[in-house]
Amino acid sequence: METVRVVVVGAGVVGFSTAVCVAEALPFCSVTLVADKFSPDTTSDGAAGILFAAEYPDIPLERQKHWFKDSFDHLLAIAHSQHSPEAGVMLSSGWQIFKEVPANKKPFWSEFVIGFRNMTDSELKRFPDHRFGQAFTTIKCECSSYLPWLEKRFREAGGRVEQRKVNSLQELSTSFDLIVNCSGLGSKTLVGDSEVYPVRGQVLKVEAPWLQHFIRDGDGKTYIYPGIHSVTVGGTKQDGDWRLQVDLGDSKSIVERCSRLEPSLSRGKVLGEWVGLRPSRRNPRVERETVRLQGRRLPVVHNYGHGGWGVTLAWGTAIDALGLVKQCLREMPLRAKL
Ligand code: FAD
Repeated sequence: METVRVVVVGAGVVGFSTAVCVAEALPFCSVTLVADKFSPDTTSDGAAGILFAAEYPDIPLERQKHWFKDSFDHLLAIAHSQHSPEAGVMLSSGWQIFKEVPANKKPFWSEFVIGFRNMTDSELKRFPDHRFGQAFTTIKCECSSYLPWLEKRFREAGGRVEQRKVNSLQELSTSFDLIVNCSGLGSKTLVGDSEVYPVRGQVLKVEAPWLQHFIRDGDGKTYIYPGIHSVTVGGTKQDGDWRLQVDLGDSKSIVERCSRLEPSLSRGKVLGEWVGLRPSRRNPRVERETVRLQGRRLPVVHNYGHGGWGVTLAWGTAIDALGLVKQCLREMPLRAKL
């Protein structure tokens, strides 16, 4: 059987998750991951990495449940293993609180996280501006550790890594038989997808080791997520905003909003500030197509556009993308048959 040459574009959490899934499941493929930015310089690196999600409007809920459950189960197994500190994956308990009672009190992922329940009145007393809340244990996956850990796993499965910018898919058409596109926001230019746009997020990393529980306002703009090395305090959700520099007005607003929820934050030491652009789209694109490149018909599997939930859904969509890669291989006449 001839080796099938697969290239994965993107070294964020979606790219590395997909590359690991393909390399481990299909040992007769040679898998190369190409990206211009690697950890610690990807969007994924700065994400708080807390696992929960909002519903995408046009993807069947069952599929979204699969994405969530597959990711959660995969990361829970790591959190319970000896790899947890090296991989940066830990359990995290806390509260999501709402100023108004939400229309849907039970999000679709509530059946997969641990111990999901509504908060009691006495628990809500410490949040006088909020009328409703949910308490549960989920997972926090810190990509500054998780990405190097995935890269090691990828290399152990025989994967190769190249650092360079891909200016067009044409560049890949002679060296590879199948392209997997996990380029996040880069897909706007790489595959000309005008539906992809940035949602700017600014956060502070604070030293406050006494904080053990996450607190998230249901609007998604204010949150406190304790992690392994620091507490991520945020944030902002600015649609279409490409600015990567820290905005002092945003920093001030974040500190004010978060200190109202957790007054002891004022005693914490700010270790750093960070801005990332969420690779957003109405729905993530997890699908395949065939493109004609330099006279050759090449299968392309897309996996990008996860917005604010890429860490949460990366493993689940990677499993879907692996399924699409397998479908493409079955249709390749002269190469591998599964
Ligand atoms: P990226 O991490 O951006 O990676 C894209 C990769 O593609 C990079 O390696 C880049 O170099 C490469 N690339 C792009 N174009 C090209 C090209 N032309 N040639 C070569 N390489 C290319 N998600 C959660 O689930 N939970 C959270 O708590 C959470 N918190 C967040 C907080 C903030 C402030 C922000 C900004 C985001 C947060 N997110 C969270 C969202 C999460 O960070 C993203 O959904 C996720 O990182 C997307 O991963 P990705 O691999 O698609 O993209």
